[in-house]
Amino acid sequence: MSTSMLIEALAEHRRRGFEESRQEKHTSFNVPFHAHTDPSSSHSGRYSLMLRNRIYYGLKPFVPQFIRTAIRRKLAMRLRTQIGDVWPIMQGSERAPENWPGWPGNKKFAFVLTHDVESKVGLARCRSLMKLELDLGFCSSFNFIPEGSYRVPAELRQELTANGFEVGIHDLKHDGHLFSSRRKFTRRAARINAYAREWGASGVRSGFMLRNLDWLHDLDLQYDASTFDTDPFEPQPQGRHTIFPFWVPNPNGDSIGYQQRAINSSSSGYVELPYTLPQDFTLFVLLQEKTPEIWIRKLDWIAQHGGMALVDVHPDYLCFDNATATSREYPASHYKSFLDYVSQRYSGVFWNTTPRQVAQFCARVTQATRS
Ligand SMILES: [Zn+2]
Repeated sequence: MSTSMLIEALAEHRRRGFEESRQEKHTSFNVPFHAHTDPSSSHSGRYSLMLRNRIYYGLKPFVPQFIRTAIRRKLAMRLRTQIGDVWPIMQGSERAPENWPGWPGNKKFAFVLTHDVESKVGLARCRSLMKLELDLGFCSSFNFIPEGSYRVPAELRQELTANGFEVGIHDLKHDGHLFSSRRKFTRRAARINAYAREWGASGVRSGFMLRNLDWLHDLDLQYDASTFDTDPFEPQPQGRHTIFPFWVPNPNGDSIGYQQRAINSSSSGYVELPYTLPQDFTLFVLLQEKTPEIWIRKLDWIAQHGGMALVDVHPDYLCFDNATATSREYPASHYKSFLDYVSQRYSGVFWNTTPRQVAQFCARVTQATRS
């Protein structure tokens, strides 16, 4: 296969995903927050998606990263001109779920910072990122890839948790094949569960936000964070159209003992935490934004409606210490300005917390509304 055919195949993958996203844009999943099902669960839709992803992630290693980024940038720039009505804000997703009790301590909104560490480069920047957040009085979670291109030192995990940060799991190998077959997923899920026990992790986010919410019940975890309210730039672009966390019940879970198990076990279900602010890579690397203005605008909207502002920032793309950013990096000062804005504008009225705590809160609410 020639390079131009490879490029066209990759571009086609992105285009198809976008078209599906457009078709779904009027579908709202904002029903009682413990009653969600997987919108991409039709058999034919899932099969075509699995096939497309298998082809894409099979070809991907043969195309140099700079070419892939250039393709994504070009497509993202074009896409942006067509999606103003659904991104970064999708109207309708601000409706609170039925029986929503509000956030603990009467806080106006939840503010959840998460990080996926993609490579050795990101790994080497975790401490700088932790320090930036600590200095401003924030905590966050760091998701590491257990069997990716780096090994996670136990000391780093311990240092993070000792400082009040959370450690989570990011995929297993981060190769795009986590959901490529049911059998493979079962095998990989067992390994993820083993790492979660070893690391004391409570949640997962898959690579490239690929997901199958029905299969995730194999994981013995309290939450998944691979969905989003609206993000047409992702390879599996169907949004959940809500800025609130929601409960995903296990269709095969027993209801007896539910009350005791809901909080600490995944046997009856798990909590889904959609990210609701655009990813840093999309904003600053693909769309080449020069300020955090889009984050701020979306955050104001989420705060106004009492939702959950959850962002995924990758240390891999953060350029610290006034170094010159490469084409796949952006100045850490963008992120710092955003945090400064939140702490000044909303001092005392938001709940800065970790995904685990949101999941535990959400599980308790689910339990209360069912009893
Ligand atoms: Zn990732």
